[in-house]
Amino acid sequence: QDTIAKTDPELWTAIQAENRRQEDHIELIASENYVSHAVMEAQGSQLTNKYAEGYPGRRYYGGCEYVDIAEQLAIERIKALFGAEAANVQPNSGSQANQAVLMAFAKPGDTIMGMSLSEGGHLTHGMPLNMSGKWFNVVAYGLDAKEEIDYDAMEQLAREHKPRIIVAGASAYSLRIDWERFARIAKEVGATFWVDMAHYAGLVAAGCYPNPVPHADVVTSTTHKTLRGPRGGIILMKAEHEKAINSAIFPGLQGGPLMHVIAAKAVAFKEAAEPDFRRYQEQVIANARVMARVLSEERGMRIVSGRTESHVFLVDLRAKRITGKEAEAALGRAHITVNKNSIPNDPEKPLVTSGIRLGSPAMTTRGFTEIESEQVAHLIADVLDAPTDEAVLEKVRGKVAELCARFPVYG
Ligand code: PLP
Repeated sequence: QDTIAKTDPELWTAIQAENRRQEDHIELIASENYVSHAVMEAQGSQLTNKYAEGYPGRRYYGGCEYVDIAEQLAIERIKALFGAEAANVQPNSGSQANQAVLMAFAKPGDTIMGMSLSEGGHLTHGMPLNMSGKWFNVVAYGLDAKEEIDYDAMEQLAREHKPRIIVAGASAYSLRIDWERFARIAKEVGATFWVDMAHYAGLVAAGCYPNPVPHADVVTSTTHKTLRGPRGGIILMKAEHEKAINSAIFPGLQGGPLMHVIAAKAVAFKEAAEPDFRRYQEQVIANARVMARVLSEERGMRIVSGRTESHVFLVDLRAKRITGKEAEAALGRAHITVNKNSIPNDPEKPLVTSGIRLGSPAMTTRGFTEIESEQVAHLIADVLDAPTDEAVLEKVRGKVAELCARFPVYG
């Protein structure tokens, strides 16, 4: 049997280096996680060889009897996990799941309403350079003076503009979202109510964050963030929307589904139904809270929205006189991985920013509890207090190495 090491040593070296990086660095990117060996096994299986255009029992290719089982397992498991009437597990990514919603419920030129990217929304919710912003007339809502979603303003905008679709959900918002309130206004103005729960899906599955499924016409998600599955997307919907969504995914947007990824989704959805997963998500939230508390109460930084009720939060760095870009680079040198992120009314450009986004899902998967979270927050603050001090960086790197060695990801 040929191995990558033998046939492609150049690539193998890169893969090995990335594996080591994942073990040796503390991962705080809120949208990342470490999947189980079982999820990786499914993704590396022979299902990658199979074409299966169509849906289980209704394929355009022969030989689909076994991949049908895999896809049906994924569908049944995700429906049970979230209490959904119907599910599509084929989207190749979160963005493609979102494109399918736009395709199913609106036409180019229609008005859609979403949270502005600069205040926490996602690209695919109407950012001007994204297809959602180029092809649709976008009305954006945002945050109020307390940096909480401005529900009153959102309702006023909805009544004024009567959007075809209202989307709720965010990539950088730490608080609980009032799905019910969005659903009420969507119903009042005749809009389709779409929730993109990509960031919160794992928390929702474990009962640690409100479930949007009972309130929304359609719910999209990625499968690789808090849900801890392979990279990909899903769509949950009321039964009445199943036909429109399924045909928007195939043949609307995609050809052959990635059956090996769908098998890996099935594995992850089974794992997410285990009692361990609930304990994991409770720890994710506890860890995020500890980091936010230490950074704000003990180390003089401001947390956007004042607190976190989830796995994620933004840190306003202006008090430290350091930009998001500089902070990301300095923390990277200390082997702590974060991403720079705009904060509300950020005076800096999107590639510079005044903030960083921190998330606890990956470090919690490797076993960090409140004790390690407190240490991590202090290490972050030590770096941000002296971002160019080589001695400080060296000391932090040493402590990161110790923590990572005590909590190996894959052993
Ligand atoms: N929706 C939200 C809320 C996200 O945060 C993201 C990814 O960051 C996506 C959709 C897009 O997912 P993908 O990167 O798989 O296209």
